[in-house]
Amino acid sequence: MNERYRVKPEQKIDLSEWDPSDTTAFDGDKEAGEEATAKLNKGLEALQELLYAEGKRKVLLVLQAMDTGGKDGVIRHVFDGVNPQGVKVASFKRPTPEELAHDYLWRVHKVTPGSGEIVIFNRSHYEDVLVVRVHNLVPEGVWSRRYDQINAFEKQLAEEGTTILKFFLHINKDEQKERLQARLDEPDKNWKFASGDLAERALWPEYQKAYEAVLSRTSTAHAPWYIIPANRKWYRDLVISQILVETLEGLEMRFPPAEEGLDRIVID
Ligand code: AMP
Ligand code: MG
Repeated sequence: MNERYRVKPEQKIDLSEWDPSDTTAFDGDKEAGEEATAKLNKGLEALQELLYAEGKRKVLLVLQAMDTGGKDGVIRHVFDGVNPQGVKVASFKRPTPEELAHDYLWRVHKVTPGSGEIVIFNRSHYEDVLVVRVHNLVPEGVWSRRYDQINAFEKQLAEEGTTILKFFLHINKDEQKERLQARLDEPDKNWKFASGDLAERALWPEYQKAYEAVLSRTSTAHAPWYIIPANRKWYRDLVISQILVETLEGLEMRFPPAEEGLDRIVID
């Protein structure tokens, strides 16, 4: 699973070749998939506790997707039951005047994980080569330099002990239509509907192209991208849980050594 959806460094990505409805690893078996996710979730709980107790490593997850792609759903489901102590979510909205007065990584670096922490980026510095590129918010000469800058920034984080995983939740335009329609039809989803999303939807091809550039240019050994088939929510959550658990297991973390002589202590 870890391999199947990972973008290799320098791999040229054409998103039309990646099936957003793919469920091959579980053969479309939703029930079995949900069971597997629940098991992984228990594993994640334990690994997060170990990470926190060890207090050495830092873990950064980046979530990017088109509107309705499921970023919020992933945060809710994959981290269900995980101790909120030690897990933080950082959401990146349209930059404030203060943020705009600084370089684009300023607001990002401030909220990267500290030792023992997992931080989830709900959108990220990649918006600065996505929405910014699609809407020409800065000249091409400025955004086109950012891919290399981002690679250098992430390399520095990795060299200083941060494990970085980046997930692109891949849905297609039909699936987005259904999900936007649900936001219109279901009263308790109305709050999620932003009419601005329709203008972004009209720019679908431009966004896909901008995502292809991101995936082709910024997947590195130290900060890989994964293209997650996300039309099926259960499969999306399963794949991400699995990659996350495998990666955390690979860190070979240890609980800190106990104090000397615990076995001789008597509590009266
Ligand atoms: P949401 O995630 O639905 O709450 O929307 C956040 C909005 O902020 C999205 O439309 C993003 O494209 C936008 N946004 C995030 N980062 C930036 C950025 N660096 N420049 C411009 N817009 C951004
Ligand atoms: Mg939105």
